[in-house]
Amino acid sequence: MASIRLHCPSTLRQNHVLDLNKQQVHYLFHVMRQHTGDTLIIFNEIDGNWEATISSISKKNCQLLVTSQLSPPLPSPDIWLCFTPVKQAPMHYLIQKATELGVSKFIPVMTQRCIVKNIKTDKYQANALEAAEQSNRTDIPEIASPTDLRSLLESWPADRTLLMADETGHGEALPTLLHSLAANSPLALLIGPEGGFSPKEFELCTSYPYIKRVTLGPRILRADTAAICGLSVCISQTGDWEKKPSFR
Ligand code: SAM
Repeated sequence: MASIRLHCPSTLRQNHVLDLNKQQVHYLFHVMRQHTGDTLIIFNEIDGNWEATISSISKKNCQLLVTSQLSPPLPSPDIWLCFTPVKQAPMHYLIQKATELGVSKFIPVMTQRCIVKNIKTDKYQANALEAAEQSNRTDIPEIASPTDLRSLLESWPADRTLLMADETGHGEALPTLLHSLAANSPLALLIGPEGGFSPKEFELCTSYPYIKRVTLGPRILRADTAAICGLSVCISQTGDWEKKPSFR
């Protein structure tokens, strides 16, 4: 079975011929040193996973012939991650791991103690795409435009519980809180900056009924660790861990 997976937004049907974009041609030709006749997997969120054969390849162009469907689209758990941007390396790690775990939407949230000012959402999107290709997802998580905490809360969909990771110990243990929610209720996790949320931000959050403060145990975790830890607990309890990898 081919192991290269590429996201192709065009309609995927048997015998369709597709032209790949510049980055994909570079990756196949220079990095993976692929040749005419080699096979790979292409996918998107509507048509699922398909096998394709390289019908021509050069430094600048690559055409694929779509051959057969390997699986229908694979839905991801309905969980969002709201996070205060951190430095580049932990940020890259966070987007990559959270995409592997199944997050469907990332929302960068500017908080009082956020030290990163230049938010590169296009880089976040590229990280998410790469992680989706490697982790067998057929959908690519959305990266929302950065917002401030107050605007996030004011425009929040009231039916989605927002789990605020609170390192001060005033929250309920995350697994206990999840047990009290209705099955399959939409969730989001909110992680603070390296300096933590300010007292004013905690006060602001207590006025919204859909926010639940949660603790992730007695140790103080780095923001990226807290995100991965919180998401793993949420997805293990309310996500799709009963399903198995489907076609590889
Ligand atoms: N400045 C804080 C301190 O020194 O106490 C630490 C902030 S922590 C590095 C960054 C974020 O991770 C926090 O704002 C919180 O959202 C989350 N976090 C870390 N440890 C946590 C825990 N034990 N329980 C809940 N959230 C935690």
